[in-house]
Amino acid sequence: MNPYPTWISIDGTEVIADTALTNALNTGMALIIERTPTRLHILWNPNSPRHAQAVMYQRQPDPTDCPTCGTTKVDRLTDGSCPTCRFWTYQFGTPGGLIINGEHYRVDDEPTPEELDNYPYLYGSYGHRFVIRHVDGTEIVTHNLWHQGTIPPGLTRPDNAAFVNDNPAGAR
Ligand SMILES: [Zn+2]
Repeated sequence: MNPYPTWISIDGTEVIADTALTNALNTGMALIIERTPTRLHILWNPNSPRHAQAVMYQRQPDPTDCPTCGTTKVDRLTDGSCPTCRFWTYQFGTPGGLIINGEHYRVDDEPTPEELDNYPYLYGSYGHRFVIRHVDGTEIVTHNLWHQGTIPPGLTRPDNAAFVNDNPAGAR
């Protein structure tokens, strides 16, 4: 699989990956006006008065890209390594990581109700309540969920957990 974003606008300001384009087309957020192997003419938000057209060209890999994780314009460390790869090597090598919809999370120690009431901003996701189900079916409730980010396209791996949507609106 090619991890690079596939399409880039002529001035280089807009980049879209194949997966993001497919999602946009499936949800009606984008409509293809014309497509050739190297050129893509899109209408964004076709049903909105704020629709906009974009002409994208097939992007060529750049020497600064990281072929492993797919990050573009990498500012490499002094030893030549990619900081994004290093970060994710650390995350995947540290037990306890949760992968939910391709995003990486960690659950930290549960605060007491008093701690949560007094200092909610000290806890992950501002102390909001999440119910999480692991692949083995066990569930946990946390008020201290930290988000490490979206796993880059070249390093994706299967989810090992899911959110359980039992939150009453506004409940903590
Ligand atoms: Zn990398």
